[in-house]
Amino acid sequence: MTTITSFKIEDLRFPTSLTGDGTDAMNKSCDYSSAYVTLLTDGKDIGYGMTFTIGRGNDIVCAAVEKVAERLVGRKTEELFADMGAAWNYLLADPQLRWIGPEKGVIHIATGAVVNALWDMYARHERKPLWQLIAEFTPEEFVRSVSFRYITDAISPAEALELLKSKQAGKKERLERVKKEGYPSYTTSVGWFGYPDEKVARLTREAIAQGFNHFKVKVGGGVEDDRRRLALVRSIIDDPKECAGRPTPAPETLVGKNAGPTGSVLMIDANQVWDVQQAVDYVKQLAEFKPWFIEEPTAPDDILGHAEIRRQLSPHGVGVATGEHAHNRMVFKQLLQANAIDVCQIDSCRLAGINEILGVLLMAAKFGVPVCPHAGGVGLCEMVIHLSLVDYLCVSASIDTNVLEFVDHLHEHFTDPCSINAAGHYVVPSNPDEGYSMGMHESSKAEFVFPHGTYWSDPANKKLHGLE
Ligand SMILES: [Mg+2]
Repeated sequence: MTTITSFKIEDLRFPTSLTGDGTDAMNKSCDYSSAYVTLLTDGKDIGYGMTFTIGRGNDIVCAAVEKVAERLVGRKTEELFADMGAAWNYLLADPQLRWIGPEKGVIHIATGAVVNALWDMYARHERKPLWQLIAEFTPEEFVRSVSFRYITDAISPAEALELLKSKQAGKKERLERVKKEGYPSYTTSVGWFGYPDEKVARLTREAIAQGFNHFKVKVGGGVEDDRRRLALVRSIIDDPKECAGRPTPAPETLVGKNAGPTGSVLMIDANQVWDVQQAVDYVKQLAEFKPWFIEEPTAPDDILGHAEIRRQLSPHGVGVATGEHAHNRMVFKQLLQANAIDVCQIDSCRLAGINEILGVLLMAAKFGVPVCPHAGGVGLCEMVIHLSLVDYLCVSASIDTNVLEFVDHLHEHFTDPCSINAAGHYVVPSNPDEGYSMGMHESSKAEFVFPHGTYWSDPANKKLHGLE
């Protein structure tokens, strides 16, 4: 028997605020950060997990991670792995920690970091990448891993079992296809808020050369500015000469997405800056650039607000997407029940890990809404490819509409970084020892751990970041 004996927590911060990477209308200065946890045992098993923040406050999350991780010390790994649903319930069941949520905010994302580490350990133990561990579950094992509490009015365990059983056929063929073609993705790197027009144009051309045909641009800083940037991006991505040599997108992957003449799709993201009617009035002025959807038009908790925005924008051909800040499965349940979204954007770290995410995948499949996970930041791309593979192989069985966010930042810090192929598709993780792909180089941790790492303790860097 192996026992979890201790854990290590690291506050890792990467100085992305210096380049403008990751900037949007709401988040104008981001130092992408990871509240990183390593679960240690008295055997060979080890688990790495994290949640994501954008800098200040990462220490608060680390303090919460400690409280949650303490609950696993002394627990036998075999018992935890034998019923991951029960393990999740146990982690969520401390009434005193629950009080400071419940199931939202710092305590919830901290729980996500620990749950992610436990699943990472389980997958490493089984010597399978995480997606494969779950994809090889029987439908019964899958259902047992899902957190159904508070969502059974949207999907019951029995319904979920039926759904999963119905998707067993064709699984092998889907796996062969996705291993060969990769998982479709899109880029956000072309249009961060802080980038000047020349950089946007250059990055758009680079993205085309990488094989991408879905592009997302940050909006919400001013209508004229946005119109100029969107016109610029459209002028490049809709130009057959600019796209010469890029693989031709299959027609079935463009249905309902307002694709231009070259098969290029544009999406826009406001990162929650508007009130409801403001969002409608603003996006109408961008509708001529034919975005597939507006992402995070308003407050992430405003379910009926999203439904109203969707109702009013639908005649203009613009859909609504959200989810990266939806703080638990109940918010997703209501977004789906209220017909508030065209695209469901789960995040690997905001929900409390795999168990809760599996519930959202099941609900989205039942409601017929495609899941296109949020990624970027640090580590998110590494994780979400596993989630989208589980969705495709076991749950929705669909891949035509889906695109997974890809941002080419900070992958070099991971021991098993994600990658994309020549068609701009995510490569299927294949190392049996990579778990949830959360292993990080010791040298990266030593450099960027806050505040004593070599980067952050350098006086010149302290000055640069206003830390003196
Ligand atoms: Mg976003």
